[in-house]
Amino acid sequence: MITIIGAGLVGSLWAILLRKKGYDVEVFERRSDMRVSLASAGRSINLVITSRGLHGLDCAGIRDDVTALAVPVYGRMIHSVSGDQIYQAYGQANEFNLSISRDALNRFLISAAERAGVKFHFEHELESVDPVRRTLSFTSTGAPKQVNYTVLFAADGAGSRVRKALAKIESFAERTDWLEADYKELSLPLGLDLKPQLKTDALHIWPRGDHMMMALANLDGSFTSTLYFPKTHFEKLRTPEAVEALFKAEFNDARPLMKNYVQEFLEHPQATLGTVRCSKWVFHDSIALMGDAAHAIVPFFGQGMNSGFEDCTTLFDLIDGKRDWPEILSEFERIQKPNADAIADMALENWVEMRDKVGDQAFLLRKKVDGALEARHPREYKSRYGLITYTLVPYALAQKAGLSQNALLDELIGPARSLDEIDWTRAEELLRSHWQPFVTAHKLKIENFR
Ligand SMILES: Cc1cc2nc3c(=O)[nH]c(=O)nc-3n(C[C@H](O)[C@H](O)[C@H](O)COP(=O)(O)OP(=O)(O)OC[C@H]3O[C@@H](n4cnc5c(N)ncnc54)[C@H](O)[C@@H]3O)c2cc1C
Repeated sequence: MITIIGAGLVGSLWAILLRKKGYDVEVFERRSDMRVSLASAGRSINLVITSRGLHGLDCAGIRDDVTALAVPVYGRMIHSVSGDQIYQAYGQANEFNLSISRDALNRFLISAAERAGVKFHFEHELESVDPVRRTLSFTSTGAPKQVNYTVLFAADGAGSRVRKALAKIESFAERTDWLEADYKELSLPLGLDLKPQLKTDALHIWPRGDHMMMALANLDGSFTSTLYFPKTHFEKLRTPEAVEALFKAEFNDARPLMKNYVQEFLEHPQATLGTVRCSKWVFHDSIALMGDAAHAIVPFFGQGMNSGFEDCTTLFDLIDGKRDWPEILSEFERIQKPNADAIADMALENWVEMRDKVGDQAFLLRKKVDGALEARHPREYKSRYGLITYTLVPYALAQKAGLSQNALLDELIGPARSLDEIDWTRAEELLRSHWQPFVTAHKLKIENFR
């Protein structure tokens, strides 16, 4: 029997994959069954699923069912203060991400796991772990309960009780670096004609320097928008007048589309964002942290769940009948931790990129040149964004590739101010002298995962 704490996205997918390998699995979840309880207002995040997430769904045999619940997103639509819109494709014409409601996906995964034979215990909040006796203590709706385990996976999210319990009895470093900004969710409903009010196949961004708003489409064509503001900024927005003034000044084009924005802003919860870093993920050969419990990241690369699903596929591949659990867990940590560290850093870089740079001319030119290089040399070159989003190239290697690409782009763009000024013969030389040696040295495979 394998024990999992947390029936979130990662715990539920991992439970399905363990059943595929023939294990009995039980999952303990603090919340009541989300399929029968109502989701609370202001917590209906939309997530993008990309290559690593799709790989996890493929291994579980549920990709088509999940993609039927998702909306394709091909690029970013940047909204300026004056209301102008600029579109930036994410990649080439056939490349897109999938936007899905986190709740809808979670409900689907729990049902799929149950169908696969996983036993769920809802309303079981883990209180403590005794790794020597291999026991878990829960508070449940009834009396406190003790449960024994043989192998334990902690998929209990960013505030992981397992991680915190272990930190009290083990010497390992764990910390959460809180972002200076919090977020709130607001709705952008269908228009009076029951049609979408924005282009549904784009991620909409209102970049405003130290803060921003984003919106992703729901399946019915309405949107969920997310406001990311410094905590100090939120403190000044406590009255209807202050909220209205802010929207008039900064998001005026979105204002008529968001009917209840003032009320929602004042009523919806303000949530925090952080990066969890741990010196190790595996304890006593029998406990592994995974997903946000091991490596929560800020959401600006859209990779938190995707990297958690990659934890699942990495473990899945390691179960081959030859390795025992201690070896599987230690290999998992060895392979995946450097990747989690890399995407954590890149997600933080993207916070600056999305709120501050996406409207900047030099940044836009760099993106265009990167995209044009990819279009001209599709078999040889792929941007860092493309490597992370459309391939299964390990995050740590994609991060390194990004550094090599930066040097190449600096050299190629030089003082140019438009795409017409780029010397494409020089680009070919630079690809040969700078990029190809990197690809060969790291055996980099740039084909998309399909
Ligand atoms: C605004 C925002 C946007 C995001 N956008 C994206 C995106 O576009 N793409 C992407 O890939 N990721 C995105 N993410 C990240 C993604 O939501 C997380 O990475 C993902 O939900 C992590 O899954 P998890 O199962 O590890 O943790 P969680 O989803 O947090 O699940 C943990 C589960 O454990 C349970 N639990 C907690 N404590 C206990 C306990 N003591 N006992 C029992 N059960 C417990 C919880 O109730 C929960 O069900 C975003 C996150 C945010 C905040």
